[in-house]
Amino acid sequence: MTSTQICCGRRGWLKAGAGTGAAVLMAGIGLRTEDAEAASLSQAQRDALTPDKIIEMMKQGNQRFRSGKAKPHDYLAQKRSSAAGQFPAAVILSCIDSRAPAEIILDMGIGDSFNARIAGNIANKDLMGSLEFACAAAGAKVVLVMGHTACGAIKGAIDNVQLGNLTGLLDTIKPAVAATTYAGERSSKNAAFVDAVARTNVQQTIDTLRSGSPTLSDLEKKGQIKIVGSMYDLSNGALTFLG
Ligand SMILES: [Zn+2]
Repeated sequence: MTSTQICCGRRGWLKAGAGTGAAVLMAGIGLRTEDAEAASLSQAQRDALTPDKIIEMMKQGNQRFRSGKAKPHDYLAQKRSSAAGQFPAAVILSCIDSRAPAEIILDMGIGDSFNARIAGNIANKDLMGSLEFACAAAGAKVVLVMGHTACGAIKGAIDNVQLGNLTGLLDTIKPAVAATTYAGERSSKNAAFVDAVARTNVQQTIDTLRSGSPTLSDLEKKGQIKIVGSMYDLSNGALTFLG
């Protein structure tokens, strides 16, 4: 079986998406037919997806990425099909780290997701405004907060780094350092502690979104969106959704 058949073909998609309508199954992120995979999501395709289905598609996309079976992307065709309008299924809030590019990690194409990136994947009012636009105005159904292992911003918060405007950003992360229960060495040199703080920080960001954005929390309470956390492992390429 070729990689194209594995990652993009009708068989693989139907196998992955048993129980859902075939038209929808073949429409979304990384799940297009051979003919349609070069196109971005249409409004009808995006609107037919549920938050849970989109999360499942993200998991499948990460599995393709980490197993070296990412689908071939025709970016020019995706650009053409999305130029007149965008209907992304999700908005991702992730770190600026060069090793954690969300669209690649999730095997997404142009037009599949909004992507907000800031050191340490924190939330502030401007970022919440961006996420509110993505969900309430543009129809995205999943807010994915993505932390990652060995995060320099987390290390900086642990070490109390002082550097220009970065100091204030790290102040936003510091409550996650204090809130992380950890029995071993609480040092930036301890990778396990750094990653534990990063997980706490993801949850802290989600708490900030829910408490600081009535727009997002109301959409979540109505079941129109889901806000989920995740951690990306730089070593093995796995994106783990936090429960
Ligand atoms: Zn980072």
